[in-house]
Parts: sequence; C-alpha cells; structure tokens
Amino acid sequence: MVRRAIRFGLVALMVLTAVTVYAAAYIGNSDSRCFHRPGCRSVRDIRADHRVRFSSRKEAVDRGYVPCRRCKP
Ligand SMILES: [Zn+2]
Repeated sequence: MVRRAIRFGLVALMVLTAVTVYAAAYIGNSDSRCFHRPGCRSVRDIRADHRVRFSSRKEAVDRGYVPCRRCKP
C-alpha cells in the first residue's frame, strides 16, 4: 500500500516535471541567467529549483535573461 503510494507519487512528479517543461515557451536558468527553448539539451542540466518558465521571449529578456548560445531562442 505504501509502496504503491510512493510509486504513484513518483509518476505524478515526473508528469508534473514534463508538463512544466513542455507547457512553457521558454525555460530559464535562475543560476546562469540564460533562457532556452524547451527542447534544448541544456534544459535537462538545469536543476529543478533553478528552472524558470517564460511564456514569451520578451518576458525572459525583460527579466534580465540572455538567450542561450546553443539553442538560440
Ligand atoms: Zn539552450
């Protein structure tokens, strides 16, 4: 019973992470102050607590983020 609850929690967490990444137009890194397209390989390396979502490119730039040089958002 407990095991099932833990498994369910893990699945829910994974789904939530996937939704967080793919629902956003751009993903920022609050540590490096760079922003990326959701499909950028660098996004996978961003720690979950450093991930910032932006609904537009302008929003990211307005908040002081610079475009990633790899994915050129
Ligand atoms: Zn990138």
